[in-house]
Amino acid sequence: MRLYGKEELKRRLDSAAAHGRLSHAVLIHGEQGAGKKVMARYAAKLMMCGAPPCGSCKNCRLIDSDSHPDVVFVKQKCGGKYATDPFYENFIKDSVIYPNNGGLKVYIIEDCDDLSPKLQNAMLKLIEEPPRYLRFIFTCENVNNMLETILSRVTEYQLSLPSEEECAECLRESGCDAKTARELSDTFCGNIGKCRAVIDGGEEKKLIDTACRAAAAIAKNDRFSFAAALTEQSGRAEYAETLEYLTRILRDAMVIKCGGSAAYFAKKEAAGIAAAYSEERILDMTDTVFSVNSKSRLNLNLGLTTAYLTARIMQQYTG
Ligand SMILES: [Zn+2]
Repeated sequence: MRLYGKEELKRRLDSAAAHGRLSHAVLIHGEQGAGKKVMARYAAKLMMCGAPPCGSCKNCRLIDSDSHPDVVFVKQKCGGKYATDPFYENFIKDSVIYPNNGGLKVYIIEDCDDLSPKLQNAMLKLIEEPPRYLRFIFTCENVNNMLETILSRVTEYQLSLPSEEECAECLRESGCDAKTARELSDTFCGNIGKCRAVIDGGEEKKLIDTACRAAAAIAKNDRFSFAAALTEQSGRAEYAETLEYLTRILRDAMVIKCGGSAAYFAKKEAAGIAAAYSEERILDMTDTVFSVNSKSRLNLNLGLTTAYLTARIMQQYTG
């Protein structure tokens, strides 16, 4: 199986495993959509099958289908989020139970960024002095959210994004047409996970749709629709992502002004803004959204932020 953009990390893991140097606790970190889960499965196969994993034995097949009885996805078992009781039940306490076939038992602890310091502390002793049959694979986006004491006990591997060509190739192989594959991988700078999220039409698609509606409202100078679109996002993270997409659409509008062409997801909206405003005004809007977004990650009230954005982007220019 080819692991797009992960070949280098794969080689490092293979080599460590082949020399018997693969740590009992590895941490794979990289941005959202970089393929941490794919790499976590790969590391589990290295531990359960060998280096390189064959990909066809029972262990490999069960791991690929997330159904290996001795490879535990802790977050999933905890119901998708890390609360204290389920975490103890499904991980800390569960770890004393021997593996089913007498071999190894691998715990995959995804999104460690979400683990409170208390829960991170709770697993410290287990990582430090594990029973001989235990292995741990952690994944996270940002190692800064993890305790120093945990980091000092794991081997860190960073996962980088594949090139845009590799990303497009991967999308084509999974049935996407060549043109869309290229446009998506350009738009998301090779982030396969994000491209897939758009193709699959899930949460990411919803955020893009919201940003497109906000952009269309800007093009028509329709304050009400602009505020209404942004108000749809109740969570801080979704709000910030929507603004990020809106920033991109505004940048695209600028590119169109300069004779270029827009990215894949909001061509019509970007063209609408380009037709309605001067370069200077688009530039100012882009700055406004961008600077508000860098602050929205702090603790701004979303309603007030929307009111401010609406005022800054639209009212300033009337009359
Ligand atoms: Zn195998």
